[in-house]
Amino acid sequence: MRSLETASCLGKDRRPIPRVAVVRCPLYEAGPLAQAVRRSLDLLGGLDSLLAPGMNVFVKINHLSPQASPERAICTHPLFAREVLRLLLDRGIFPTVGDDVNFGPGDEFLTTGFRSVCKGLGVPLVNLRERGFVKVSLDGTILKSVFIARPVLEADAVINLPKLKTHSFTAFTGAVKNMYGIIPSGLRLEYHRRFPRNDVFSQMLVDVFSAAPPSLNIMDAVVAMEGEGPSSGIPRRLGLVIAGRDGVAVDAAASRIVGTDPFQVFTTSFAAARGIGVGDLERIDIRGERIRSVEARDFRPSAIATGIFRRRLPSFLYATVSGQLVLTPEIVPQKCQACLECIRICPARTIREVKGKAWIDKSECIHCLCCHEVCIHRSIRLRQRPVGRLVRGAERLFKKAKTLVGKI
Ligand code: SF4
Ligand code: SF4
Repeated sequence: MRSLETASCLGKDRRPIPRVAVVRCPLYEAGPLAQAVRRSLDLLGGLDSLLAPGMNVFVKINHLSPQASPERAICTHPLFAREVLRLLLDRGIFPTVGDDVNFGPGDEFLTTGFRSVCKGLGVPLVNLRERGFVKVSLDGTILKSVFIARPVLEADAVINLPKLKTHSFTAFTGAVKNMYGIIPSGLRLEYHRRFPRNDVFSQMLVDVFSAAPPSLNIMDAVVAMEGEGPSSGIPRRLGLVIAGRDGVAVDAAASRIVGTDPFQVFTTSFAAARGIGVGDLERIDIRGERIRSVEARDFRPSAIATGIFRRRLPSFLYATVSGQLVLTPEIVPQKCQACLECIRICPARTIREVKGKAWIDKSECIHCLCCHEVCIHRSIRLRQRPVGRLVRGAERLFKKAKTLVGKI
C-alpha cells in the first residue's frame, strides 16, 4: 500500500497534530452529501493532498447486516458511499468497494443498496472472502500475525467509511472497529472466543487496525445508532460527516460528540497509548463545526458503557467487576423467525434450535454478543446482572450530579 504523506502540523512537543473535520449534513441526498463530503476533505487540505490520481484504493464500508435496509442505520449508507466514490472517480482515482459479508446464497449487497450504487458508477464491489486472505506478521500487543484480505493489501491506499454506532460489547464502533471486517469471519469468531474480555478484545482490534491503517476515514454520522448497537439499536439523526486521516482521532471526536469521554472507549485509549493515533481532543485540530455546537448530550449509550468503572478501577478490580457488567443474550421466542443465523455465528456453539426457535445454553455463553449483532429481527434482548444494573444506576447519578455541578 502507498499513500501520500502530507506535511504534518507539529505541536509544542514536536508530535504531529492530526486534523479532524466535522461538517453538518442533514440528509442522505446527493446534493447535501456531496457538499458535506467535499467540504470535509477541503478542511483536511483537499483530496489532492491525500491521494493521487491513478491510485487504486480500497473503500472499506460497514456492511454488517446484508438483509437490513439502509434506514436501519446498521450499515454505512450507500448514498453516503456514492458521493465519496463520485469524488474519487472525478479525480481519476480507481476505487474498489467491499467488506467481508456473511450471508446466504443470494446477492448480499442487494438489500442495502450497494449493488445498485456500485453498478451505477461502474465501481467493483467485492465480498472479501471471494478474493482470499494473506497472512501478515504483526508486532501487536495480542496478535503476532493476522490474515488480511487480499484487496486491502493490494490497494495503494485504504479509505475507511465507518458508521457511528454504539456497540454492546465494545461500547462504541467507529473507524478502528470497522477495520475488523478485513479479516476472515471465521477468525473474527475465533477471536471472540479467545478474547472474551472487552479490554483484551479491544487491544486485539487495535492490532488489526494497525495492520492496515486507512489513509483516510470518512465517518457516516448523518444517522447514527444509539442504544444497543451495532445492529439492534435505534437510528439517531446527528446530521454529521466526521473525517480525518487519523482514525483514532476521528473516533475520539465522534465519541465526544455522542457524550462519551474518548478515553473510555478502549480502542481509542489503547491505540493512543501505543502511538497508533491521537485520542486526546486537546491535541486534535478540529475544523468545521465546534464539537460543543454539535454534541448530542442525550445520546443513549449501550448498557455496557460503564465509564467510571472502566477507567477508574485498577485493572485487576476491573476484571472482577466487568464479570458483573457483561450483557447476556436472551431469545424472545415470540419474535424469533428461526432464520438460525445466531446458531451459525455463535463461536461457543451454545445456541440450538428447540421447537422451531433458537435457544441459548447460557452456561456456555462467552458474552461476545455476535448473536445479538447478527439478529436483524431484534429477537435477542440483552440482560445485565443485578450488580451491573446497580453500577449503571450509580453512574447515571454520577453523571447527573456532574452536570448539575457544572451548571452551578
Ligand atoms: S434469534 Fe434471531 S438470528 Fe436467531 S434464529 Fe431467531 S430470528 Fe434468527
Ligand atoms: S450465545 Fe451469543 S453472546 Fe453467547 S457466545 Fe453465543 S454468540 Fe456469543
